[in-house]
Amino acid sequence: MKTELLYSGKAKQMYATEDPTVLWVEYMDQATALNGKKKVQIEGKGALNRQISSLLFEELNANGFATHYLKTLDANTMLVRRVEMVKLEAVVRNFASGSFARKFQTANLLPLRPAVHEFYYKSDALDDPFINSEQAIALGLADAATIAEMHRQSDAVNAYLTARFDGIGIDLVDFKLEFGTLPDGTLILADELSPDNFRLVDQATGQSLDKDVFRKDLGPLQPVYQTVLDRLKGAQHV
Ligand code: ADP
Ligand code: UDP
Repeated sequence: MKTELLYSGKAKQMYATEDPTVLWVEYMDQATALNGKKKVQIEGKGALNRQISSLLFEELNANGFATHYLKTLDANTMLVRRVEMVKLEAVVRNFASGSFARKFQTANLLPLRPAVHEFYYKSDALDDPFINSEQAIALGLADAATIAEMHRQSDAVNAYLTARFDGIGIDLVDFKLEFGTLPDGTLILADELSPDNFRLVDQATGQSLDKDVFRKDLGPLQPVYQTVLDRLKGAQHV
């Protein structure tokens, strides 16, 4: 059972459990953009993100990736291994979009080969600024070995997910991962795997199948996330 509420974030609530190595994660119906400045409740979003995350974490675990995912409890809840989070967001980009396309004034969805890896410093107070490896190491946010391991694991996750989404007619444009360390120092994939953190584009229609629908007010988000879940389940890999 859950015990104390440890953290209430923008998308999830993290609770302690009787087992100090295990966290109880509840996915909320809240949608935010612009670092929380745009915020609404979307019924069903938490359950959809939980289902998509569970499905993808189960596949990654089954394919030899080390992740925090343990098991699903109910519609909005999963259990995960508690880790010490690395205060860096690892973004991988296969096509130019979002802040990258704005910064470099590229065509939207310009292919990026090899994929571009970026880090952002997880700091709400600073608005999650871009940070390079040397800056992160100098600030003591991670050591060089951890940075290299995050790069290696992000590449492997990208290869898996790119092929997985391609198999259901979706381009994985870019995404954000978070990592954490177990007490023995092992780095594992944590947080969530959902369209809140991925940019996904329907190969047939060019339609956005992710949080850009909310960011850009393109229509209701719930049916779009349901489409992603249905397609993933239609071609389940575990
Ligand atoms: P935010 O902090 O951006 O508002 P969330 O609402 O998703 O995001 O909150 C989830 C929080 O839990 C994040 O700070 C994330 O880094 C952290 N977290 C994710 N997985 C784990 C884990 N396995 N152990 C400890 N903390 C985690
Ligand atoms: N992303 C995220 N959380 C953040 C910032 C970015 O999940 O706090 C994801 C986002 O969904 C996209 C990728 O990281 O898939 C790259 O985002 P970008 O830098 O283009 O920023 P945006 O324009 O989305 O704010």
